[in-house]
Formats: sequence, C-alpha cells, structure tokens
Amino acid sequence: MSGPSKRPIGDPPEAGAAPEPVDIPWVDIHQHTQSLTWNDREKFDLSGGQAAVAIAAGYYWAPYRPVSSDDVRFLWDDALRRAAAFDHRHFYDQYVAVGIHTWSRVENADELVSVLPEYCEDDRVIAIGETGIESTQHTTSWPLEGQKEVVREQFRVARDTGLPVLVHTPGSSKGDVDPRHVQSYEEGNRNFTDPLLSSDDPKTEAVEIDLALADEVGLPDEQLVIDHAGRSVRDFVLENTGCYLAYSVSAPWLRGIDARDIAAAIDAHGSDRIVVDTDLIGAMDNDPFVMKRTMLDLLRLGVDREDVRRVVYENPREILDLA
Ligand SMILES: [Zn+2]
Repeated sequence: MSGPSKRPIGDPPEAGAAPEPVDIPWVDIHQHTQSLTWNDREKFDLSGGQAAVAIAAGYYWAPYRPVSSDDVRFLWDDALRRAAAFDHRHFYDQYVAVGIHTWSRVENADELVSVLPEYCEDDRVIAIGETGIESTQHTTSWPLEGQKEVVREQFRVARDTGLPVLVHTPGSSKGDVDPRHVQSYEEGNRNFTDPLLSSDDPKTEAVEIDLALADEVGLPDEQLVIDHAGRSVRDFVLENTGCYLAYSVSAPWLRGIDARDIAAAIDAHGSDRIVVDTDLIGAMDNDPFVMKRTMLDLLRLGVDREDVRRVVYENPREILDLA
C-alpha cells in the first residue's frame, strides 16, 4: 500500500484558465407560463431570465369542447390576469402573446379576429400567436381553407399593429416519440386527427402557405418568427426569407432538435436571425432550466459568447421591441 492518495484528477487550472462565469441574460419569446408552477418560474429568476412571453391561447385548458371563441377569449383574459400576478412576485417581466392557435378547430373564430386589435393595445401584449397552418389537430380537424382565413386575418392585425407573429409550425405530432416520455404527454399521439397536408415534409409545406398568406396582406418578413424550427426548414427560411427562425428547446424527445442543431445553424448562417425559445408547457415533461442548459451546451460546442447572447437575449428583445 502506498501513502495517502494524491489528487486523482491532476493539478488545479492556472489562474485565468477556468471558464468565465456564464452571466448571459435571456428572454423567452414562447412558453406556456400559465401551465407552469411557482417553482418553475422561480427557476427563471435563478437562471438569468429577464422576460418571458406566455402564449395566451392553449385549447388544452379550454373549459369546454368543442372549443368556441368564448373559450379562447376566456383563456386570453386569464393569461393576462395571471401575467400581472406573476411579475409582481418574480424578478423577470411576464408578457403575453394573444392569438388563435390552429391545433384545435375554434368555432366562430371570426369573433376573436374582430377583438384581437383591442387586445393588442394592452401594454402586456407584445406578440401575436402562436398561430400558423397545422397539418393535424388534437381534437377536431380544422380544414385548411378555414385555417388560412384565420391565420391571414391575424397577419393582417400584425401588419396594422406592428406586433411580431409567433408562427407555429407542424412536426411534433404523429412522430416516433420516445416511449419514456409519451405517457407524460397528455395530448399524446392517439388524439391527433388525420394529416391535412400531403407532403412528407408538412413543416416546410405549412411555412410556404404561411409566407404566402403574409404576402397577401403585406406583412413584412421581419415581423414573422418561424417557430419550432426543424432541419428541413432551416436553410429555406434563412436563405430565402427575411424571417427569424426560432428553435424550441424544451422537449428534444418530441421535436428531435437540440443545441447541436442550433450551433450548426449559427455556423452556417450566423446568429442574426436565429432565436432560442423554450415552448415550456406543463402538459408534458419539461425542464424549467432548459434555457440556461442550452446556453451552456452552446458554449461547450464552441459557439462564441456573443452569438449565444444574440440568440437568447438580443434577438428576442429586438423581435419584441424591448431593446
Ligand atoms: Zn406551437
């Protein structure tokens, strides 16, 4: 036997060689804050959260089925009330996005479109959405022509108010969900309706329709955030449009993307129009520290600090006009 063990992992680093502290703040443009807990929101405070946008419409919490315009209006009002309570008790600013989501058909959606401009006047409402063409719905199918009408009209309100639109894109349904998580996803695969889009790349097909609708009403690309980015739309959006592209990082087991995809996108296209959001939602497995963890992963992958700061903080602030 030899004597007392020596340091088993080598000498401590030279002064200055240790990693710099990660003190980059973040702003999350897309989360379903009203479905999270107080402890989740405290983790935003603990991990550098400066602001977050709660998506007001989520038919998940609609009190009745089928979902009517009154149910969605209830959700908008509820999100606004909760947001006011949240940011008096936390250290980040809680904002709200108001819109008509297409993941379940909404009856009399035109009634919502007509009051949307009033909601946009609320100081707390800083984006429209999430909305955008979907291929499948969770409850009742919403034929494409009806979806186009309601998405186009929301784009028209965005043009008139100057607010950005968070454009939901398909791709997290009817996929091969990791069986360890599928039971945790309350709105899981078995509820989905048959797909309406015919191609094997519904995400790109939906984005093309969304862009055509934006063109119809003259909504500038810079006001569009193409959300839930996937590999198939990356180059198309960043090369052929002026839109922002947002990666939703809270459920890699569902969306099939992680920090490596974001690092590769920054490498290929620069960080000017790339955004990280969480899409945190209480209806499925989630990690309230996911924004901070993604930042650490990006730094470990060799992404420059300035680029990390741009995709989690500067770009979100620019989109939301918080700068
Ligand atoms: Zn979405």
